[in-house]
Amino acid sequence: MFLTPFMMKRLAAKPYREKRLPELQKTASELTRALGRKPVLRVIMVGDHAASALYVANKEKLAAEVGIDAATIHFPATASATEVRTAVKKLNDDGTVDGILIQRPLPATYLESEVLLWVAPEKDVDAFHPETVGRMVLGLEGFLPCTPAGCLKLLDFYGYSVKGKIACVVGRSSIVGKPLASLLLARDATVLHCHSRTPDLAAITRQADFLFVAVGKPGLIGKSHVKPGAVVIDVGIGKDAAGKTVGDVDSESIAGTASAATPVPGGIGPMTILGLLENTLESAAKKVKS
Ligand code: NAD
Repeated sequence: MFLTPFMMKRLAAKPYREKRLPELQKTASELTRALGRKPVLRVIMVGDHAASALYVANKEKLAAEVGIDAATIHFPATASATEVRTAVKKLNDDGTVDGILIQRPLPATYLESEVLLWVAPEKDVDAFHPETVGRMVLGLEGFLPCTPAGCLKLLDFYGYSVKGKIACVVGRSSIVGKPLASLLLARDATVLHCHSRTPDLAAITRQADFLFVAVGKPGLIGKSHVKPGAVVIDVGIGKDAAGKTVGDVDSESIAGTASAATPVPGGIGPMTILGLLENTLESAAKKVKS
């Protein structure tokens, strides 16, 4: 039987951003009037990781556009965990700071299990603290993790609903895969969760109406992994052999099979930064209400 190939719709973040930016700017200026200062985000960065420096610069640039006072406190790679922790504590105690983010990766000597507890939950705009994660899993009010929430906001924006559909998440990290699976479950999707030990990945992913990929392996997902008509959300960020930024999904291979897919760059990356700024505004708004 001859099947007509799908015209793959491009789910770019730009139209969402163009709609959302003026709303965020309005909220930021109202908060600035109410608080007598701009909403404040502080980023902690340790060392000179090139990709981190670029992410941090992008965050600061968009924050400035929105009207958020964002600045980075930069430590050398040799800074001790105690030194950095003391700086985070100061920010926790500073009533004029609304959001704090600790940029990863950190030096290998820092214990992630301890770092996760440094930022006070009420300022945890990156949603990494175990209390924040627990609230999300239980469906209680709290900050939502920026990348997984960004995936869902983009689907909402383009008019998709995962309710009653099969959603497959590839990747089980604490920052993307696990929280994403939890948010999808909360939206009544039937969730399949794959990882590095999943045998025959394609046999699982091919069942999905919505396929989310967060692995960090360019080209991992191709036509054979995609159900005809599926919507594919590519969270991965990597480089191809020519040094070009690409995702985990081979977009050329899936064109004609998937009905829609996010581009890389220009898909989930910008959604993540917007989510961080939305969380910062939410934190500042709580100070006005209290
Ligand atoms: P991670 O390295 O912590 O986790 C990768 C996951 O992929 C693991 O759970 C592992 O089990 C799984 N995996 C590895 N090989 C696999 C395979 N062959 N088949 C199936 N699963 C496999 O990564 P992470 O922090 O979740 O990030 C994943 C990717 O998403 C990276 O490329 C990262 O740069 C990107 N990322 C993008 C954003 C964004 O804003 N767009 C945010 C966070 C992460």
